[in-house]
Parts: sequence; C-alpha cells; structure tokens
Amino acid sequence: MKDPYISQDSRENWDNRVLNLASICLPWLLMVAIASGSEKQLAPTATTLLVFAVFFAMTVVGVAIGMHRYFTHHAFKTSGFIKVCLGVLGTWAMQGDITRWVADHRRHHRFADKQFDPHSPWYSDRGPIPNRLHGWFHAHMGWMIYGRVSQPGRYAPDCLADRSIAVLSRYYWPIVALGLVLPGAFGYLLGGEGEMARCVFWAGAARVALLHQLTWSVNSFGHLFGQKVAGSDSEARDNIFFALLLLGEGLHSHHHWRPASAMNEPKHLDAGGWLIRGFEKLGLVWHLR
Ligand SMILES: [Zn+2]
Ligand SMILES: [Zn+2]
Repeated sequence: MKDPYISQDSRENWDNRVLNLASICLPWLLMVAIASGSEKQLAPTATTLLVFAVFFAMTVVGVAIGMHRYFTHHAFKTSGFIKVCLGVLGTWAMQGDITRWVADHRRHHRFADKQFDPHSPWYSDRGPIPNRLHGWFHAHMGWMIYGRVSQPGRYAPDCLADRSIAVLSRYYWPIVALGLVLPGAFGYLLGGEGEMARCVFWAGAARVALLHQLTWSVNSFGHLFGQKVAGSDSEARDNIFFALLLLGEGLHSHHHWRPASAMNEPKHLDAGGWLIRGFEKLGLVWHLR
C-alpha cells in the first residue's frame, strides 16, 4: 500500500476543518446578515445582474484555469503577474488557499476513486462507501468537514517553494474579503447604497455560495453521472451540464484521462481550453500542454 501522505497531526486537521467550515458558512451568514439588517430592496436589478455576471465569470476563471489547470496541473506557463491574478481570482472562490486546494486535488488524482482519494463518492480514507447517497455527500462537502489534510510537503512542494503563492496563501482571508467588498464598491458607483447592498448580496456572497455548489458537483455528480472514457480507471464522468456551466470542467472523465492537458475533449465543449488558447494568442500564457 502506498503511503497516502495524510496528516496525522490532529491540531492541523482541526484547523483545516475550521477553515473549511468558515469558508462554507460565511457567504450564507453574510446573506442572512444583509437580508435581515438592510431596509433596502434586494431583488436584483439589471446592474446587479451585470456585476454578478462579471464577478462570477472572473471567479470561474480563477478556479477552472487558475487553481485547477495552472496551479495544480501546470497545463501552461505564464508570467508572475498573470499567476498572481489567477491566484487572487481563485482565492475569491473561497475554497481554501492555493496550496491546500492543489494538495487535495493532486491526492484526488493519485488515488482517483480508490481508498485515500479525499473526495470520491465511492471510497473514503476508511474504505468503500456502500451507500450512493452517503458517497455523494462525502464527495460533495462531507470530506471538508471531517476529512484530513493532504500533506502539502508531499503534494504541493512547488507551491510551498513559490514566494507569490506563499503570500497569496497566507493572506487568504484579506483576499477573500476583497472579493466580497469589490462588488459592493462597483454597486455603489453604479447605483448608490441600495445597489451596493444588492451587489454584495448577489455578486459577492451568493456568487461564492453558487460556485461552491458547482465546483463540488464536479467531485460528486462528476464521479457518478455521465459518460466515461473507454478504458478509464476511475469513476470520473463527462457531464455536459457542468461542462457548460464551468468552462469545460465537467468533461471530467477526459480530464482524469489526460490531467495535464490545457484542452479537454471534446474540444467544442471546453470553453476553458479555448480561453487558454485565446490567452496564448495574446501572449499572456505559453507552452500549453
Ligand atoms: Zn475527479
Ligand atoms: Zn485535475
């Protein structure tokens, strides 16, 4: 049995669970606070929807292209400036800091749907999960609440050695706060105080909560429902619904088949891959794999 490199340090594991729970709950608490504390009308206006769309798109790019294809799989190379931009946008998704995200995801690929995969609907660290509903919950969000830390020294030594990633990881919460404050600032500029409250509610907090569900769905639904690449050795599936919503990230069976590829198959469904090619044309990224 290969060493799973999971932390045995109970303090470290508890700190991680607290961080995960805070990241999961904070957007909902913020929405409740705004809804109960504000006299303002919260139904979204055209301005709210515009600010929501811009911040949602930027954060999906941060997760799909930044956290996943760049920081975890090194699917392309880029400059220090673009790296920091992708890191900030990925952190706005409130899914843990870059180093932790990368370490968990690399452990997921190493054990894909076997014991010690951090978030498989089929296996937990303890062994097979017989009940599919339990498996779905474990892969969707349970693993963050009771799972253990994937040791960054083993899974993400490149992140630990990178100064800018270390800084982005250390300032996780201030960067997260910026991702909630900025939509409010745009709302204020475009429509005053009422629009500010609506933009923090929808383009800040609700945007994070929605993207949480969509990202986790790739781990849960994306390992249960959809087409498998012939001969694949994991339960990852190509799911067109999540592919369209998440810049091609739902093409998850193809992704497990060729994890480091900048472009997923089928190409016409992988908007993320085309975006990376567009960035390449602009000279922003290079050496696509
Ligand atoms: Zn997967
Ligand atoms: Zn991956």
